[in-house]
Amino acid sequence: MASWPALAPLVARAGRPLVIEALRVWAEARRGMPDVVDEAACARWCETRLAVLVSPSQRRVFNLTGTVLHTNLGRALLAEEAVAAAVAAMRSPTTLEYDLADGARGERDDHVAPWLRRLTGAEAATAVNNNAAAVLLVLNALAGPREGRAREVIVSRGELIEIGGAFRIPDIMAHAGCRLVEVGTTNRTHLRDYAAAIGPDTAAIMKVHPSNYAIQGFTKSVPAAELVPLAREKGIALIEDLGSGTLVDLETWGLPHEPTAREAIEAGVDVVTFSGDKLLGGPQAGLVVGRKDMIDRIARNPMKRALRLDKVRLAALEATLRLYGDPGRLAERLPTIRSLARPATEIRAQAERLLPRLREALGSAADVGIAPVRGQIGSGALPVDLLPSFALAMTGKGLQRLADAFRGLPIPVIGRIADGSLLFDLRTLDDEPAFAGQLDQLDIGRSGPRQSGP
Ligand SMILES: *Cc1c(COP(=O)(O)O)cnc(C)c1O
Repeated sequence: MASWPALAPLVARAGRPLVIEALRVWAEARRGMPDVVDEAACARWCETRLAVLVSPSQRRVFNLTGTVLHTNLGRALLAEEAVAAAVAAMRSPTTLEYDLADGARGERDDHVAPWLRRLTGAEAATAVNNNAAAVLLVLNALAGPREGRAREVIVSRGELIEIGGAFRIPDIMAHAGCRLVEVGTTNRTHLRDYAAAIGPDTAAIMKVHPSNYAIQGFTKSVPAAELVPLAREKGIALIEDLGSGTLVDLETWGLPHEPTAREAIEAGVDVVTFSGDKLLGGPQAGLVVGRKDMIDRIARNPMKRALRLDKVRLAALEATLRLYGDPGRLAERLPTIRSLARPATEIRAQAERLLPRLREALGSAADVGIAPVRGQIGSGALPVDLLPSFALAMTGKGLQRLADAFRGLPIPVIGRIADGSLLFDLRTLDDEPAFAGQLDQLDIGRSGPRQSGP
């Protein structure tokens, strides 16, 4: 049956084994039916059955949620330079761990460490799979058990975060083999709380950037800089998980200030960790910068081998970091900064261009207008500071169905429903022609003017 001409195109696309598998199911379902077979109908049946298998599961979408760095939608988009570097690394052998000068083994960290040192002012740097891995590794290397004895890490109760996806500081601590010592209260922690908690088994103090929430009102936290003398005096490590972290001052683009890795290093923090695919705008990675003796210990830890980056992401990361060598051009070259820095007036103009197209596509299925909205950076950066933007706003009955229809487009469109509207925040719409070009395929069972028939 697999050699039927009607099946040839499917065999070419999906391969023989999958088609045969589908044919078995088809034959099973037809057991007891007459022997006359409609080959074309069978081919269509197999095609439908295999459709899911032969098309990619991870698909391109339009992220119009208003969250620029959306974790569920893959966070930062890479710069063209980073894409090209990743593709080149995929296609060829590379000097991943090879020193061309003397034809000997090299270090994979050497591709990014010099850039990280330059951009943060740190003595040394390393990179791993993601920031969660970085925190786990740093804790285990600097504060893991010694001679079978668990050591302690002090964290303020105001910073015992959960990031989502099961990243909770207490759990990470336990898995790193450290004993967590909580100090202070949820809203207030003082320097003296840290000082009083330090004992013979204390290995480190850790600061954690409260990424996805803000504590407001009667609050007090101790900045890392104020902890530096205490950590030095007691001979323990001061670690800071910056979360998103950034390498440049976002105020350059009129955005609120977010702590930079350089500020943490200059304040005297021993080891700083942050993500590669949040504000930095690169591939998923966890970056670790700080004191050379500590980074050496971290890099020698056996977990480092299990958490290391592959050549593709290292190539993309290196290319991304290189863009930071010319910060003046970041807004044009790095999609994350480009989206964040986009002026609201430009977004509004885009909304006005798209409004008639969307009206036409929706007919009478929904009312469309332009609404001022507030988006967010996402991925834990600046949880309370919102980005003024404009959205295409649809109102009417059955918003959920409308949202379903947009998700059913060839390039699914993901918006958000808020205050009785389906909102498409246009801050992150970079491919306007592709968005507009597929609107006429919207399947809303519409009763508007575009529908023919009774
Ligand atoms: C996002 C975040 C993490 C986890 O980083 P990943 O790169 O997603 O692993 C850890 N800590 C903080 C404070 C964060 O904001």
